[in-house]
Amino acid sequence: MKAAVFHKPGDISVDTVQDPIIEHPTDIILKVTSTAICGSDLHIYDGFFPQTKDLVMGHEFMGIVQETGKGVKNFKRGDRIVVPFPIACGHCFFCSHHLPTACENSNPDHYGPQGDMMKGKGGGLFGYTALYGGYSGGQAEYVRVPYADFSPRKVPDHLSDEQVLFLTDIFPTGWAAIDWARLKGGETVAIFGSGPVGLMAQKAAWLQGAGKVIAIDPLEYRLERARTLNKVETINPNEVDPIDAIRSMTEGRGADVCVDAVGTEADRSFFEKAKAVLNFEKGTVKVMEQCFEAVRRGGIVTVVGVYGSPYDNFPVHRIFDKGITIQLGQAPVQNYIDQLLQLVTEEKVVLEDIVSHQLPLTEASYAYDIFKKKEDNCVKVILKP
Ligand code: NAD
Ligand code: ZN
Ligand code: ZN
Repeated sequence: MKAAVFHKPGDISVDTVQDPIIEHPTDIILKVTSTAICGSDLHIYDGFFPQTKDLVMGHEFMGIVQETGKGVKNFKRGDRIVVPFPIACGHCFFCSHHLPTACENSNPDHYGPQGDMMKGKGGGLFGYTALYGGYSGGQAEYVRVPYADFSPRKVPDHLSDEQVLFLTDIFPTGWAAIDWARLKGGETVAIFGSGPVGLMAQKAAWLQGAGKVIAIDPLEYRLERARTLNKVETINPNEVDPIDAIRSMTEGRGADVCVDAVGTEADRSFFEKAKAVLNFEKGTVKVMEQCFEAVRRGGIVTVVGVYGSPYDNFPVHRIFDKGITIQLGQAPVQNYIDQLLQLVTEEKVVLEDIVSHQLPLTEASYAYDIFKKKEDNCVKVILKP
């Protein structure tokens, strides 16, 4: 089959690789009909996560069940499904505590980029390097889906792929960023990053009762999308200090909630160090720190942008002084997917409006290039195998 294969940083090409096969009775083989490129894929593309072997990329995909293992009960050949990005068994300690991204069975040898610091079991992801279980991803014609009875969901025939594809990751991720802030209604939510994840967090903020939603991003074309699609107020940090701007929009207090939907990418120097040595000592994490400044006293900061390394000078004094509540992490997609599919089915939310490019899978190399460089007004790319 054809698949988008990572070879080394900056080098992803569409190659012919072996078709996946059923390896365990609980697997299915999915024929992929649509798959997307994620900001998280860029961390691999940029060489942030170590990966020495070729890897089939992709953790946002859907398609038609081609073959089922003997133990699979919930699906049969021909079913059309979306697949959450965290691979989870559904019955271990963590899965039964609604923590599918920590599943003990999907990745028994998780050591993380910092060796011992992240020692412990847990967390298999599709197409996300040996650290996350070494699974092949879904930017391919076919993909093996382990523990198939637990995570995938059937989708109604009348909904197009584009309408439901983002239930695999970015809509639940944006949803989690807001859900973790437990809105009561009317809050001001400032969302740093207006990429695909930020745009989804903006939609989620309105749906969960925010009174004001502010998007911050240096890319004007992405702010334009945010304004037209999601009717949010916008701040370009290249033009004004975003912290001052947020304070002046909130009577000087700061936002009730700040979301970091940027992550590591905000600081290239941090990134360069990460590339050179994976146990580097220092880095700066500007956006997360901006969130601590821009949030009001007693406010909440949630972080869905990915961070893969420790750093010095973490402003713990500011967090203490202001009494800030923080939550970071991968999105537990399985916890939200039924509710979010319902919202799509009832037409309470439109997800496909963020798509800027739809290309054949064979164009994956080009697609990574424009998504990475933010060229051609690229926001979100769907690839069609
Ligand atoms: P993206 O790269 O398309 O978007 C990032 C956006 O941040 C860009 O629009 C960029 O212009 C903006 N940005 C850069 N520096 C900024 C700054 N200083 N202030 C404000 N905005 C700034 O990526 P994406 O697909 O939207 O993903 C965003 C992050 O979310 C990535 O780190 C990705 O890995 C992560 N992610 C996490 C989860 C999860 O489960 N937690 C799931 C999906 C994606
Ligand atoms: Zn993703
Ligand atoms: Zn599990």
